[in-house]
Amino acid sequence: MSPIPPSIHHKPVLRLHLDDITHSATQITNASLDGGLYLARAIEHVISHLYKPYGLSEIPKVRSVTVVLRSMGGVAYTTGLPLDDLHKEIHLSLDYVQAVQSRSSSDIRHEIAGVITHEMVHCFQHNGHGTAPGGLIEGVADFVRLKSGLAPPHWKKTADSRGQKWDEGYQKTAWFLEWLEDKKGAGTVSRLNATLKAEKYNEEKFWKDLVGASVQTLWNQYKETWEMEDTSSDCSTTLKGQE
Ligand SMILES: [Zn+2]
Repeated sequence: MSPIPPSIHHKPVLRLHLDDITHSATQITNASLDGGLYLARAIEHVISHLYKPYGLSEIPKVRSVTVVLRSMGGVAYTTGLPLDDLHKEIHLSLDYVQAVQSRSSSDIRHEIAGVITHEMVHCFQHNGHGTAPGGLIEGVADFVRLKSGLAPPHWKKTADSRGQKWDEGYQKTAWFLEWLEDKKGAGTVSRLNATLKAEKYNEEKFWKDLVGASVQTLWNQYKETWEMEDTSSDCSTTLKGQE
């Protein structure tokens, strides 16, 4: 397998930085990422679910993605270098990996793949030139994670876990986007992303042009489907700390 997906014309340099070799989670994280080769697969997930069929010709020309494994609070975050935003850094918390690993039922490889895929979306997604709501940005990232088969076990759809608003972000908005694709057609989210490249985010115009209805109307329609689907009422926790 080629380490870089063939569909991406501009190939970023992919790097893995082990900040602390002696940290107890460094080796398992490195192994879970196949020594960094997983980064190329994460980019494939982004291309498949965010750039097909719309927007393939407008993938940002990211120059490099460096994953930094280090001790820190939270789960992970992505940043661009101040001098050149096309050099991306994904910071992943070794302390978080350690904590997940200590929960015996967790599949650490699956979880790390999911977190990295979420962060890789941030390296490549469009954001309406900085105007898109944060909840939509995070929802798109978790949508790609969800469609890549990397949803963590704690993502459970219950009456309480689906959210009060469409833009609460993370898996709540991801589930809404998943429903939207079912209703409006596969590739709707790639069209949404392509639109965020073309124009600034004007909520009313954006959703009307995209799917012919206001986002609140869509959210209300989505909510009406919950009653039919809900079969359990167990609590689920929302994981805090991934940005
Ligand atoms: Zn995020």
